[in-house]
Amino acid sequence: MAKDYYDVLGVNKNASQDEIKKAFRKKARQYHPDVNRDNPKEAEAKFKEANEAYEVLSNETKRAQYDQYGHDAFTQGGGAGAGGFGGYGSQGGFDFSGFGGQGGGFGDIFDMFFGGGGSNPRGPQKGDDLRKDVEISFKDAAFGKTIKVTINRHDECDHCHGTGGEPGSKVETCPRCHGSGQETVVQNTPFGQMRSARTCSACHGSGKKIEKECRKCHGSGQTVINRELEVKIPAGVDNGSRLRVSNEGEPGVNGGPKGDLYVYIYVRPSNEFERQGNEVISKVDITFAQAALGTTIMVNTIDGKVDLKIPAGIQSGTILRIKGKGIPYLRNPKQRGDQHVRINVVTPKKLTDKQRELLIEFAKEGKEDTSKFDEKKGFLKDLGDKVKEALQFKVFDKLSLNS
Ligand SMILES: [Zn+2]
Ligand SMILES: [Zn+2]
Repeated sequence: MAKDYYDVLGVNKNASQDEIKKAFRKKARQYHPDVNRDNPKEAEAKFKEANEAYEVLSNETKRAQYDQYGHDAFTQGGGAGAGGFGGYGSQGGFDFSGFGGQGGGFGDIFDMFFGGGGSNPRGPQKGDDLRKDVEISFKDAAFGKTIKVTINRHDECDHCHGTGGEPGSKVETCPRCHGSGQETVVQNTPFGQMRSARTCSACHGSGKKIEKECRKCHGSGQTVINRELEVKIPAGVDNGSRLRVSNEGEPGVNGGPKGDLYVYIYVRPSNEFERQGNEVISKVDITFAQAALGTTIMVNTIDGKVDLKIPAGIQSGTILRIKGKGIPYLRNPKQRGDQHVRINVVTPKKLTDKQRELLIEFAKEGKEDTSKFDEKKGFLKDLGDKVKEALQFKVFDKLSLNS
């Protein structure tokens, strides 16, 4: 099964072209051969997959076809023609449409997006953004909290200060690219000989050759660091909120700024409260007598217990509002939503003899016909509750079968 293109890029179905482009760039950086020297084959496969998804989703016509027909929209045409779309993916025929197939095309297409062929590959680039998922409680989401998060990210090597060379060792101009950071590749394609520029394979674009590699970072100029950060979660965040922590992403390239860290918030559901925007929903059981007579009960709010006045004669299902006990507004935490308490009037399941008498009295007082009241008294009274329930279910089953 071909993978869903939206999943491949990690974007949702409504993603804008900008988001799609960003997502693709991120994937491309992630799978760039220079950062995947350990398993280049896998990286290349992943990159091709991302590229294929990008090819479709970045083109509104193809995207619309894909949305409607899925992968079927593109698998019937067979080989990739000029424009090179038909055979992608399931046929295995990845083609860089003019860049000449497998031999080194990977670097070329990368350069197309990252400043090869014209713009300066050695210019400053912002570092990658990082993502960290955290889970917080319902109440912490309501009132905010400062939490600690631990991230692993790259940072400038403290031994060579990012140069990649052992301190004191000589830095020379790269002999392969003469300092340009690019090399020219000549390829034979069905369209003739193609020349294209790609990142220099000797210096990986830096344009420099270092006499002796830094012994700590082995020439990369970066080390992985483990950072503990304090992140202030503001009151009123909701499930799926995203916080940006500036400059805590991966280091920039060629003097570019660091990326950012995005903290994604997941809110654990509460057993007693439900949230709808800034409103809190809860429910409470009251007895038949409380409902009929009216009373004041204690109910839980996210701030703790408060008194709630139950008006006499309240019906089951009525919703009472407690003003200002909802979730604070993210942009104005002094303002809060309300709590809505759903009242559930509980019919007693067991009665003492005395209660039964009183209820019959009560009914008579209300001019009810008491002659047909269930005469279970004395019949099931001595049986255990379980047996009682079982018998009731049996009767019920029979009734439903006959109907
Ligand atoms: Zn170093
Ligand atoms: Zn070079």
